Amino acid sequence: MEIVSSIGKMQKVSAGLRREGRRIGLVPTMGALHEGHLSLIRKARSECDVVVVSVFVNPTQFGPSEDFTRYPRPFLRDTGLCRKERVDYLFHPSAPAMFPAGHRTFAEVRGLEDLLCGAVRPGHFKGVATVVLKLFNIVSPSDAYFGSKDYQQSLIIRTMAEDLNVPVTVKVLPIVREKDGLALSSRNAYMSAAQRQTAAHIPRAMKLAKNLFKQGVRDPSLIERKLKSFLKERGIDDIDYVSCIDPNDLSPVRKIDSPVRLALAVRVGTVRLIDNMLLTPQGH
Ligand code: AMP
Repeated sequence: MEIVSSIGKMQKVSAGLRREGRRIGLVPTMGALHEGHLSLIRKARSECDVVVVSVFVNPTQFGPSEDFTRYPRPFLRDTGLCRKERVDYLFHPSAPAMFPAGHRTFAEVRGLEDLLCGAVRPGHFKGVATVVLKLFNIVSPSDAYFGSKDYQQSLIIRTMAEDLNVPVTVKVLPIVREKDGLALSSRNAYMSAAQRQTAAHIPRAMKLAKNLFKQGVRDPSLIERKLKSFLKERGIDDIDYVSCIDPNDLSPVRKIDSPVRLALAVRVGTVRLIDNMLLTPQGH
């Protein structure tokens, strides 16, 4: 595995590989790799000739009061994990190289970026779409791998690539979870043991939603209300949203008569956690 930090070098390498007709798979990450990331890397490894993993904590997607400086950066450990997964290139640019003074061009995905997480984290998805577009231009992958844990993000990236005619196939893979169902996240490490126990109520709330749905509940507002009180009664009262949304455009749905995504974002202490799942009525 080669570690590349220069943008110019990465572009040269990928242009050469493309000329040879090799299929490049890109897995964009912010590092602090866990099994969720590794599932994307393994999929890329199984489908592509060359696997590039990017590790870049993107300053433009963090708000001024967010955790940019304290975001975990265990680079040596990440390097070892990538080697073990037979990654070919680990792209690890610096922030000033990606966003030098004078950088003034950004990608916006209107109508999708200001909802849900975007409503609470203004500018977040503009930063995400921009850095991913830059990574696409630097690595020129034929396939790029994302997790559906960040469902809104995956839809925004897919839309951005389509709208801007980026010749890449965006692939979105299932959420990898802990034994108790909590979605794996680099931010889980911030939690104390007690907070981690509280966080276990999130997958239980998702299960409750699934059961309500199985019992025939098709009113999204009832599901949302029940989930919110379930979480509040168990000490999770800082809730950004619990929302049944149209999987295609993230708009709120009034009745579940086609597949919907149930998405939520809550805070346990100061740690912001998200989760989502698909509710599919029979016959769809
Ligand atoms: P991050 O490093 O948090 O920016 O995530 C990099 C990629 O890994 C994104 O596409 C995430 O959606 C994906 N990812 C993060 N957590 C998980 C998980 N638990 N299961 C599957 N994919 C994940």
